[in-house]
Amino acid sequence: MKVQVLNQDVTEVFIGVGSNLSDPEYQVRQAFKALQALPETQWGAASDLYHSRPQGPQNQPDFVNAVVRLKTRLTPIALLRALQRIEREQGKVKQRHWGERLIDLDILLYGNTTLQTDDLIIPHPFMAQRDFVLLPLLALSPKAALPNGVLLADLAKQLDEVFVKPMSADENGGLIPEQLGK
Ligand code: ADP
Ligand code: MG
Repeated sequence: MKVQVLNQDVTEVFIGVGSNLSDPEYQVRQAFKALQALPETQWGAASDLYHSRPQGPQNQPDFVNAVVRLKTRLTPIALLRALQRIEREQGKVKQRHWGERLIDLDILLYGNTTLQTDDLIIPHPFMAQRDFVLLPLLALSPKAALPNGVLLADLAKQLDEVFVKPMSADENGGLIPEQLGK
């Protein structure tokens, strides 16, 4: 099957980055470098790195997560293939579903596009319920919305629990304990 690789216009996209194996912080920063080198794509910004708890199986290490903003002329499917190549080259091996992973790159939003194919769903199907996606993305783009107009800020308010926290806040991030409500 021939895949259309380029759009005429650039589209703003948000990529979710996550790792919980082999020095996750290093893996996430390596992925930033690879994303900076994507063809037909202009780097925007990366969020802070966040710590989060695993979804699904709990007997696995905590995650480091971040979100990256890019502008690209790659079509959604060409972008997915490029992300999968980065994952492979960085050493990702498929393990159990929602299990541990060396690196995970997900297309969260691709402009206002909605897409549902066998191997690509945009917006990313679980992003509305994931604190480790919503908070870093909102830090980059406070007014971001789903293609249906729902503000991510409103979705974040509806989260039952928030476990994710910026790594810069670790070891109190310079705050004294009273300020942390301890
Ligand atoms: P897991 O399901 O454990 O997260 P992967 O990260 O390997 O495993 O992703 C599984 C599949 O999800 C990929 O093969 C890809 O085709 C599919 N997929 C569907 N929508 C997206 C998206 N928006 N971004 C990235 N992958 C997606
Ligand atoms: Mg994935």
